Amino acid sequence: MTQVTEHGGGVWSLRVPIPDNPLGHTLVHVLDTDRGPVLVDTGWDDPASWAELTSGLRALDLDVSDVHGVVITHHHPDHHGLSGRVREESGAWIAMHAADTAVVRRTRASEPGTWLDYLARKLAAAGAPEGHIAPLRAARTSGRPDTLPGLRSAIPDREIVPGELLDLAGRRLRAIWTPGHTPGHVCLHLEEEHPSRLPGHGRLFSGDHLLPGISPHIGLYEDTDDSPELSAPYEVPPGDPLGDYLGSLERVGRLGVAEVLPAHQHAFTDAAGRVRELLDHHEDRLTGLLGLLAAPLTPWQLAERMEWNRPWRDIPYGSRNIAVSEAEAHVRRLVKLGRAEPVAGTDPVEYVAV
Ligand SMILES: [Zn+2]
Ligand SMILES: [Zn+2]
Repeated sequence: MTQVTEHGGGVWSLRVPIPDNPLGHTLVHVLDTDRGPVLVDTGWDDPASWAELTSGLRALDLDVSDVHGVVITHHHPDHHGLSGRVREESGAWIAMHAADTAVVRRTRASEPGTWLDYLARKLAAAGAPEGHIAPLRAARTSGRPDTLPGLRSAIPDREIVPGELLDLAGRRLRAIWTPGHTPGHVCLHLEEEHPSRLPGHGRLFSGDHLLPGISPHIGLYEDTDDSPELSAPYEVPPGDPLGDYLGSLERVGRLGVAEVLPAHQHAFTDAAGRVRELLDHHEDRLTGLLGLLAAPLTPWQLAERMEWNRPWRDIPYGSRNIAVSEAEAHVRRLVKLGRAEPVAGTDPVEYVAV
């Protein structure tokens, strides 16, 4: 039986499993509108997840064909994976922020293997050892890239415009652009009185932006279009995802919502308190990194020395790629703040505190 939680005021959440993933599940929210149910996120594209999503809807006396629209917080496969299937069965529209729709388009247009080439190039530039990059080159020739999630994810048909109310009959749902975790991540502010009259201004579908017990991954935005040959070797590339994220956190903290309905874990109150915790966490982290950068380091060397949830030697292969991207996002923030800079003449580039 799918776990269904009623949040009141025509809002429910369905626990849709993410296979073989420590996150466990995505909370797909169902929002009742005068024209039928609208989903906020859909879950991972997998038969077991689909079965849970549809049985959860049935528990609410709904059929997937009743779904009127799909609002996606961001393009990641645990949120957008099943959107195409829902649209096929129901004719529902799918809405997403333009920056994430651009990622979906680019990913779909990529030749198989483009992603692996891109990752290998990025890791080499970050100073990863050859032994770490070699398996990517091997996978490149084995045909595995076809199975990467996202290559066939659905192209949305509506754009979520920051600051605007979504076109939902009988509901007030406003898009809040919260870049950082992805360039087009949005939170959705349900500007209606809390059904239990909790103090505050409505409720927030927060996607991966604001979670009660997880600090979301903030790495460099994935842009397989970037052309390293076009950028000077020591130029700081554009984009500051961590800066975007911290700004988006403050933005969401100021909304003063009564309750947060995130896409993982569980609903919670005191959004402002959670925002403060996350801001403090990143401030501590940046201070720690400045200490490490007393001597010049590549992003890879920095990642090896940073504190993770386990020692570096125990971090599995894929998680190391994520970790180094996170280290790079932090370095980029420090460079933007004028607290660190690249060391001239180094290749791969080393950074040092200034
Ligand atoms: Zn995500
Ligand atoms: Zn997620």
